[in-house]
Amino acid sequence: MSDCIFCKIIAGEIPSQKVYEDEDVYAFHDIHPFARVHFMIIPRLHIASLADATPEHRELLGKIMLLAPKLAKEQGLDSGFKTLVNTGKGGGQEVFHLHVHVFGGGPAAK
Ligand code: 5GP
Ligand code: ZN
Repeated sequence: MSDCIFCKIIAGEIPSQKVYEDEDVYAFHDIHPFARVHFMIIPRLHIASLADATPEHRELLGKIMLLAPKLAKEQGLDSGFKTLVNTGKGGGQEVFHLHVHVFGGGPAAK
């Protein structure tokens, strides 16, 4: 997906503040954080949205969800965190590469 900004971030063509990466996923801080800690976990595979996920993505989606508490803790969110997946235009999705927002720790610094 040559015009996808998150594919470009994964490829290193757009700089990002990396939180984690492995062979299947990439995690990085949101450029406009809405909490003190706010990062996103994305699959390396371009899946446009949760509505485009299929049973073959089951393991990948499970991996992303299991990474959320691990990475949240590493980012200092010891007492808990929120997750958010905006799906489709009506769901407020702006970037059409599936991503799980993980955030918490109070309001973002202004
Ligand atoms: P959505 O509304 O699609 O769920 O969330 C997309 C998120 O991606 C937004 O919170 C936005 O701040 C973030 N974002 C958009 N472009 C970039 C970028 O180039 N770098 C980073 N790190 N985040 C981005
Ligand atoms: Zn993409």
